[in-house]
Amino acid sequence: MNEIGVVKNSILKPEDPFKMKKETSRIIIHKRYEEGLYKIDNSEYLQILFYFHEAERKKELKGPVYTGEVKGVFASRSQHRPSPIGLTTVKLLKRDGRILKVEGLDAISGTPVIDIKPFALPMDTHEIERIKEEVYMRDPRIKIMRLIRCWDLKTLLQEAAILHGHYCPGLAFGVMAGAYVIKETGWKNDGMENMFIITETNNCSSDGIQFVTGCTFGNNSLIFRDIGKIAFTVIYRNGEGIRLFLKKDLREIFNEDEEYFELFEKIIKRREGNDEDMERFKNLARKMSFKIISMEVHDLFKFNHIKMEIPDQARIYDDFICPKCQERVIKTRSIKKNGNLYCISCDNAEFYELNGFGIQKRNKSYE
Ligand SMILES: [Zn+2]
Ligand SMILES: [Zn+2]
Repeated sequence: MNEIGVVKNSILKPEDPFKMKKETSRIIIHKRYEEGLYKIDNSEYLQILFYFHEAERKKELKGPVYTGEVKGVFASRSQHRPSPIGLTTVKLLKRDGRILKVEGLDAISGTPVIDIKPFALPMDTHEIERIKEEVYMRDPRIKIMRLIRCWDLKTLLQEAAILHGHYCPGLAFGVMAGAYVIKETGWKNDGMENMFIITETNNCSSDGIQFVTGCTFGNNSLIFRDIGKIAFTVIYRNGEGIRLFLKKDLREIFNEDEEYFELFEKIIKRREGNDEDMERFKNLARKMSFKIISMEVHDLFKFNHIKMEIPDQARIYDDFICPKCQERVIKTRSIKKNGNLYCISCDNAEFYELNGFGIQKRNKSYE
Protein backbone atom coordinates (compact mmCIF):
# COMPACT_ATOMS: atom_id res chain seq x y z
CA MET A 1 0.00 0.00 0.00
CA ASN A 2 1.25 3.51 -0.78
CA GLU A 3 0.53 6.81 0.87
CA ILE A 4 -0.67 9.05 -1.96
CA GLY A 5 -1.28 12.17 0.10
CA VAL A 6 -1.97 13.64 3.50
CA VAL A 7 -4.91 15.39 5.22
CA LYS A 8 -4.56 18.95 6.53
CA ASN A 9 -7.25 20.52 8.69
CA SER A 10 -7.81 21.96 12.16
CA ILE A 11 -8.83 18.65 13.80
CA LEU A 12 -6.05 17.46 16.09
CA LYS A 13 -7.72 14.53 17.78
CA PRO A 14 -10.73 12.32 16.89
CA GLU A 15 -14.08 13.55 18.17
CA ASP A 16 -17.76 13.22 17.27
CA PRO A 17 -17.63 12.22 13.56
CA PHE A 18 -20.63 14.40 12.70
CA LYS A 19 -18.83 17.40 14.15
CA MET A 20 -15.66 16.46 12.28
CA LYS A 21 -17.58 16.14 9.03
CA LYS A 22 -18.53 19.81 9.19
CA GLU A 23 -14.87 20.78 8.78
CA THR A 24 -13.26 21.71 5.50
CA SER A 25 -10.05 19.75 4.86
CA ARG A 26 -7.29 19.87 2.31
CA ILE A 27 -5.83 16.72 0.90
CA ILE A 28 -2.30 17.34 -0.31
CA ILE A 29 -1.48 14.74 -2.96
CA HIS A 30 2.20 13.83 -3.21
CA LYS A 31 3.87 15.16 -6.32
CA ARG A 32 4.58 11.78 -7.90
CA TYR A 33 0.83 10.92 -7.91
CA GLU A 34 -0.38 14.26 -9.31
CA GLU A 35 -1.07 12.89 -12.79
CA GLY A 36 -3.65 10.58 -11.23
CA LEU A 37 -5.82 13.62 -10.44
CA TYR A 38 -6.50 14.19 -14.15
CA LYS A 39 -10.23 15.01 -14.58
CA ILE A 40 -10.97 14.49 -10.88
CA ASP A 41 -12.82 17.83 -11.02
CA ASN A 42 -15.59 16.05 -12.95
CA SER A 43 -16.66 14.40 -9.71
CA GLU A 44 -18.66 16.29 -7.18
CA TYR A 45 -18.14 13.61 -4.53
CA LEU A 46 -15.10 11.49 -3.78
CA GLN A 47 -14.51 8.44 -1.66
CA ILE A 48 -11.42 8.85 0.44
CA LEU A 49 -9.60 5.82 1.83
CA PHE A 50 -7.25 6.74 4.61
CA TYR A 51 -5.01 5.15 7.18
CA PHE A 52 -5.84 5.45 10.90
CA HIS A 53 -2.21 6.14 11.72
CA GLU A 54 -2.84 7.05 15.35
CA ALA A 55 -5.37 4.36 16.23
CA GLU A 56 -4.43 2.00 19.05
CA ARG A 57 -3.87 -1.53 17.89
CA LYS A 58 -6.57 -3.05 20.09
CA LYS A 59 -7.11 -6.79 20.07
CA GLU A 60 -10.82 -6.58 21.00
CA LEU A 61 -13.22 -6.90 18.11
CA LYS A 62 -16.09 -5.37 20.06
CA GLY A 63 -16.36 -2.17 22.01
CA PRO A 64 -18.24 1.08 22.61
CA VAL A 65 -18.62 3.43 19.66
CA TYR A 66 -18.78 7.21 20.12
CA THR A 67 -22.44 7.09 21.21
CA GLY A 68 -21.54 4.64 23.98
CA GLU A 69 -23.29 1.73 22.27
CA VAL A 70 -21.27 -1.50 22.09
CA LYS A 71 -20.76 -2.80 18.56
CA GLY A 72 -18.56 -5.24 16.71
CA VAL A 73 -15.77 -3.64 14.74
CA PHE A 74 -17.28 -4.63 11.39
CA ALA A 75 -20.62 -3.16 12.44
CA SER A 76 -19.04 0.21 13.17
CA ARG A 77 -16.74 2.80 11.66
CA SER A 78 -14.39 2.61 14.63
CA GLN A 79 -10.77 3.47 13.99
CA HIS A 80 -9.61 0.48 16.05
CA ARG A 81 -9.83 -2.35 13.52
CA PRO A 82 -7.65 -5.19 12.25
CA SER A 83 -7.02 -3.27 9.00
CA PRO A 84 -6.99 0.35 10.19
CA ILE A 85 -8.51 1.86 7.05
CA GLY A 86 -11.12 4.61 7.01
CA LEU A 87 -13.55 5.25 4.17
CA THR A 88 -15.57 8.43 3.87
CA THR A 89 -17.48 10.12 1.07
CA VAL A 90 -16.66 13.81 0.80
CA LYS A 91 -17.67 16.75 -1.32
CA LEU A 92 -14.96 18.08 -3.59
CA LEU A 93 -15.10 21.85 -3.21
CA LYS A 94 -12.07 22.77 -5.30
CA ARG A 95 -8.97 21.35 -6.89
CA ASP A 96 -5.95 23.57 -6.82
CA GLY A 97 -3.08 21.74 -8.51
CA ARG A 98 -2.41 18.75 -6.29
CA ILE A 99 -4.45 20.15 -3.39
CA LEU A 100 -8.04 18.98 -3.03
CA LYS A 101 -10.29 21.09 -0.85
CA VAL A 102 -13.03 18.83 0.50
CA GLU A 103 -15.92 18.96 2.92
CA GLY A 104 -17.07 16.10 5.11
CA LEU A 105 -13.86 14.26 5.85
CA ASP A 106 -13.79 12.80 9.38
CA ALA A 107 -10.03 12.42 9.59
CA ILE A 108 -7.58 14.27 11.80
CA SER A 109 -4.84 16.50 10.44
CA GLY A 110 -1.82 14.51 9.30
CA THR A 111 -3.83 11.41 8.32
CA PRO A 112 -2.20 9.53 5.40
CA VAL A 113 -4.50 9.07 2.42
CA ILE A 114 -4.08 5.77 0.60
CA ASP A 115 -6.61 6.04 -2.23
CA ILE A 116 -9.29 8.21 -3.81
CA LYS A 117 -12.17 7.05 -5.97
CA PRO A 118 -14.90 9.12 -7.61
CA PHE A 119 -18.35 8.80 -6.18
CA ALA A 120 -20.42 9.72 -9.18
CA LEU A 121 -21.89 6.46 -10.30
CA PRO A 122 -25.62 6.85 -10.80
CA MET A 123 -26.08 3.46 -9.21
CA ASP A 124 -24.28 4.43 -5.99
CA THR A 125 -26.10 7.73 -5.77
CA HIS A 126 -29.39 6.04 -6.38
CA GLU A 127 -28.64 3.58 -3.62
CA ILE A 128 -27.87 6.38 -1.14
CA GLU A 129 -31.15 8.14 -1.91
CA ARG A 130 -33.02 4.91 -1.46
CA ILE A 131 -31.33 4.20 1.87
CA LYS A 132 -31.96 7.75 3.08
CA GLU A 133 -35.61 7.47 2.13
CA GLU A 134 -35.90 4.17 3.95
CA VAL A 135 -34.24 5.50 7.11
CA TYR A 136 -36.45 8.62 7.22
CA MET A 137 -39.54 6.52 6.63
CA ARG A 138 -38.62 4.18 9.46
CA ASP A 139 -37.55 6.83 11.93
CA PRO A 140 -38.75 10.35 11.17
CA ARG A 141 -36.92 11.78 14.19
CA ILE A 142 -33.48 10.54 13.16
CA LYS A 143 -32.30 13.99 12.10
CA ILE A 144 -33.33 15.62 15.38
CA MET A 145 -31.64 12.84 17.36
CA ARG A 146 -28.43 13.39 15.42
CA LEU A 147 -28.55 17.14 16.08
CA ILE A 148 -29.06 16.47 19.80
CA ARG A 149 -26.19 13.98 19.91
CA CYS A 150 -23.85 16.52 18.30
CA TRP A 151 -25.26 19.23 20.59
CA ASP A 152 -26.07 21.33 17.51
CA LEU A 153 -28.49 23.58 19.37
CA LYS A 154 -28.19 26.25 16.70
CA THR A 155 -29.83 24.09 14.03
CA LEU A 156 -32.36 22.77 16.55
CA LEU A 157 -33.33 26.32 17.48
CA GLN A 158 -33.65 27.26 13.82
CA GLU A 159 -35.87 24.27 13.13
CA ALA A 160 -37.96 24.85 16.27
CA ALA A 161 -38.51 28.42 15.09
CA ILE A 162 -40.25 27.03 12.00
CA LEU A 163 -42.91 25.77 14.39
CA HIS A 164 -42.82 28.73 16.75
CA GLY A 165 -42.70 31.55 14.19
CA HIS A 166 -40.12 33.70 15.94
CA TYR A 167 -36.90 33.46 17.93
CA CYS A 168 -37.09 34.25 21.62
CA PRO A 169 -35.43 33.33 24.93
CA GLY A 170 -38.35 31.06 25.87
CA LEU A 171 -38.01 28.96 22.74
CA ALA A 172 -34.27 28.62 23.42
CA PHE A 173 -34.90 27.45 27.00
CA GLY A 174 -37.33 24.79 25.79
CA VAL A 175 -34.98 23.55 23.06
CA MET A 176 -32.07 23.37 25.48
CA ALA A 177 -33.99 21.60 28.24
CA GLY A 178 -35.37 18.95 25.89
CA ALA A 179 -32.07 18.37 24.12
CA TYR A 180 -30.22 18.06 27.41
CA VAL A 181 -32.49 15.37 28.85
CA ILE A 182 -32.45 13.32 25.66
CA LYS A 183 -28.67 13.57 25.31
CA GLU A 184 -28.13 12.61 28.95
CA THR A 185 -30.61 9.73 29.09
CA GLY A 186 -30.55 8.45 25.52
CA TRP A 187 -34.36 8.18 25.61
CA LYS A 188 -35.86 7.86 22.19
CA ASN A 189 -39.39 8.98 21.51
CA ASP A 190 -41.29 6.59 19.25
CA GLY A 191 -44.27 8.95 18.99
CA MET A 192 -46.46 6.26 20.56
CA GLU A 193 -46.57 7.54 24.14
CA ASN A 194 -43.35 5.93 25.36
CA MET A 195 -42.18 9.32 26.55
CA PHE A 196 -44.00 12.30 28.03
CA ILE A 197 -43.33 15.88 28.90
CA ILE A 198 -45.05 18.06 31.44
CA THR A 199 -44.91 21.79 30.92
CA GLU A 200 -46.05 24.00 33.72
CA THR A 201 -46.83 27.06 31.69
CA ASN A 202 -48.16 27.76 28.21
CA ASN A 203 -45.47 30.10 26.96
CA CYS A 204 -42.87 30.05 24.18
CA SER A 205 -40.69 27.46 25.93
CA SER A 206 -43.29 24.72 25.51
CA ASP A 207 -42.90 24.92 21.72
CA GLY A 208 -39.15 24.42 22.05
CA ILE A 209 -39.44 21.34 24.22
CA GLN A 210 -42.29 19.88 22.16
CA PHE A 211 -40.25 20.18 18.99
CA VAL A 212 -37.07 18.69 20.40
CA THR A 213 -38.61 15.84 22.40
CA GLY A 214 -41.39 15.05 19.93
CA CYS A 215 -43.85 14.91 22.84
CA THR A 216 -46.71 16.95 21.50
CA PHE A 217 -50.33 17.93 21.90
CA GLY A 218 -51.26 15.74 18.94
CA ASN A 219 -49.57 12.51 20.02
CA ASN A 220 -50.96 12.73 23.55
CA SER A 221 -47.60 12.92 25.25
CA LEU A 222 -47.74 16.58 26.21
CA ILE A 223 -49.17 17.16 29.65
CA PHE A 224 -50.00 20.75 30.48
CA ARG A 225 -50.20 21.74 34.11
CA ASP A 226 -51.55 25.22 34.43
CA ILE A 227 -49.37 26.30 37.35
CA GLY A 228 -47.33 29.10 35.84
CA LYS A 229 -43.72 27.94 36.20
CA ILE A 230 -41.01 27.72 33.58
CA ALA A 231 -40.36 24.10 34.42
CA PHE A 232 -40.39 20.93 32.37
CA THR A 233 -40.49 17.28 33.27
CA VAL A 234 -39.47 14.61 30.80
CA ILE A 235 -40.69 11.14 31.77
CA TYR A 236 -39.95 7.81 30.21
CA ARG A 237 -42.34 4.87 30.10
CA ASN A 238 -40.44 3.11 32.91
CA GLY A 239 -41.48 5.90 35.26
CA GLU A 240 -38.12 7.61 35.43
CA GLY A 241 -38.08 11.30 34.85
CA ILE A 242 -36.12 14.49 35.07
CA ARG A 243 -37.65 17.80 36.10
CA LEU A 244 -35.82 20.96 35.15
CA PHE A 245 -36.57 24.50 36.14
CA LEU A 246 -34.93 27.80 35.33
CA LYS A 247 -32.83 28.92 38.24
CA LYS A 248 -32.16 32.36 36.84
CA ASP A 249 -34.42 35.19 35.88
CA LEU A 250 -33.90 36.54 32.36
CA ARG A 251 -32.80 39.80 33.98
CA GLU A 252 -29.95 38.09 35.78
CA ILE A 253 -28.71 36.57 32.52
CA PHE A 254 -29.07 39.69 30.41
CA ASN A 255 -28.78 42.50 32.94
CA GLU A 256 -27.05 44.77 30.42
CA ASP A 257 -29.78 44.46 27.76
CA GLU A 258 -32.01 47.17 29.25
CA GLU A 259 -33.59 47.95 25.87
CA TYR A 260 -35.06 44.45 25.60
CA PHE A 261 -36.80 44.74 28.95
CA GLU A 262 -38.11 48.22 28.15
CA LEU A 263 -39.50 47.01 24.82
CA PHE A 264 -40.95 43.92 26.52
CA GLU A 265 -42.89 46.15 28.92
CA LYS A 266 -44.07 48.33 26.07
CA ILE A 267 -44.94 45.77 23.40
CA ILE A 268 -45.84 42.59 25.25
CA LYS A 269 -47.20 43.89 28.54
CA ARG A 270 -48.85 47.16 27.53
CA ARG A 271 -49.51 46.12 23.89
CA GLU A 272 -48.17 49.45 22.67
CA GLY A 273 -45.31 50.38 20.34
CA ASN A 274 -45.02 50.76 16.58
CA ASP A 275 -43.69 48.45 13.85
CA GLU A 276 -40.18 49.79 14.35
CA ASP A 277 -40.28 48.91 18.07
CA MET A 278 -41.51 45.44 17.17
CA GLU A 279 -38.64 44.97 14.73
CA ARG A 280 -36.10 46.09 17.36
CA PHE A 281 -37.69 43.80 19.92
CA LYS A 282 -37.62 40.77 17.61
CA ASN A 283 -33.96 41.41 16.78
CA LEU A 284 -32.98 41.60 20.43
CA ALA A 285 -35.02 38.49 21.27
CA ARG A 286 -33.33 36.56 18.47
CA LYS A 287 -29.86 37.58 19.63
CA MET A 288 -30.70 36.53 23.19
CA SER A 289 -32.05 33.16 22.08
CA PHE A 290 -28.80 32.27 20.30
CA LYS A 291 -26.79 33.52 23.26
CA ILE A 292 -28.79 31.28 25.59
CA ILE A 293 -28.10 28.12 23.62
CA SER A 294 -24.37 28.80 23.77
CA MET A 295 -24.49 28.85 27.58
CA GLU A 296 -23.88 25.98 30.01
CA VAL A 297 -27.06 24.01 30.80
CA HIS A 298 -26.09 23.77 34.45
CA ASP A 299 -25.76 27.54 34.73
CA LEU A 300 -29.36 27.96 33.64
CA PHE A 301 -31.31 24.99 34.97
CA LYS A 302 -31.68 23.00 38.16
CA PHE A 303 -32.41 19.30 37.78
CA ASN A 304 -34.20 16.72 39.87
CA HIS A 305 -34.47 13.04 39.09
CA ILE A 306 -37.99 11.88 39.82
CA LYS A 307 -40.07 8.71 39.75
CA MET A 308 -43.55 9.05 38.44
CA GLU A 309 -46.66 7.07 37.71
CA ILE A 310 -46.97 7.10 33.95
CA PRO A 311 -50.37 8.00 32.50
CA ASP A 312 -52.30 5.21 30.82
CA GLN A 313 -52.21 5.28 27.08
CA ALA A 314 -54.86 7.57 25.66
CA ARG A 315 -58.06 5.71 24.91
CA ILE A 316 -59.90 5.89 21.65
CA TYR A 317 -63.66 6.16 22.13
CA ASP A 318 -66.51 5.50 19.73
CA ASP A 319 -68.11 8.44 18.06
CA PHE A 320 -71.60 9.25 16.86
CA ILE A 321 -73.30 11.82 14.65
CA CYS A 322 -75.02 14.62 16.52
CA PRO A 323 -78.64 14.71 15.32
CA LYS A 324 -78.75 18.51 15.42
CA CYS A 325 -75.53 19.64 13.67
CA GLN A 326 -74.80 16.35 11.85
CA GLU A 327 -71.14 16.52 12.93
CA ARG A 328 -69.13 13.59 14.22
CA VAL A 329 -68.47 13.66 18.01
CA ILE A 330 -66.66 11.42 20.50
CA LYS A 331 -69.24 9.71 22.77
CA THR A 332 -67.55 10.76 26.02
CA ARG A 333 -68.19 14.39 25.08
CA SER A 334 -71.91 13.95 24.50
CA ILE A 335 -74.94 15.25 26.37
CA LYS A 336 -78.01 13.07 26.79
CA LYS A 337 -81.37 14.79 26.39
CA ASN A 338 -84.78 13.15 26.02
CA GLY A 339 -83.09 9.87 25.24
CA ASN A 340 -80.92 11.39 22.44
CA LEU A 341 -77.21 12.13 22.45
CA TYR A 342 -76.16 15.65 21.40
CA CYS A 343 -72.85 17.39 21.08
CA ILE A 344 -71.69 19.94 23.64
CA SER A 345 -71.97 22.90 21.26
CA CYS A 346 -75.55 22.11 20.29
CA ASP A 347 -76.46 21.83 23.95
CA ASN A 348 -74.63 25.04 24.95
CA ALA A 349 -72.99 23.06 27.75
CA GLU A 350 -69.72 24.02 29.41
CA PHE A 351 -66.38 22.71 28.20
CA TYR A 352 -62.69 23.35 28.83
CA GLU A 353 -60.60 25.41 26.47
CA LEU A 354 -56.84 25.89 26.40
CA ASN A 355 -56.11 29.40 25.21
CA GLY A 356 -53.62 32.19 25.83
CA PHE A 357 -55.00 32.60 29.35
CA GLY A 358 -54.49 28.95 30.32
CA ILE A 359 -57.21 26.34 30.76
CA GLN A 360 -60.58 28.04 30.90
CA LYS A 361 -64.09 26.83 31.45
CA ARG A 362 -66.34 28.16 28.72
CA ASN A 363 -69.52 27.66 26.86
CA LYS A 364 -70.55 28.50 23.37
CA SER A 365 -72.51 31.58 24.42
CA TYR A 366 -69.26 33.48 25.19
CA GLU A 367 -68.48 33.62 21.50
ZN1 LIG B 1 -41.57 33.00 21.60
ZN1 LIG C 1 -74.28 19.14 17.41
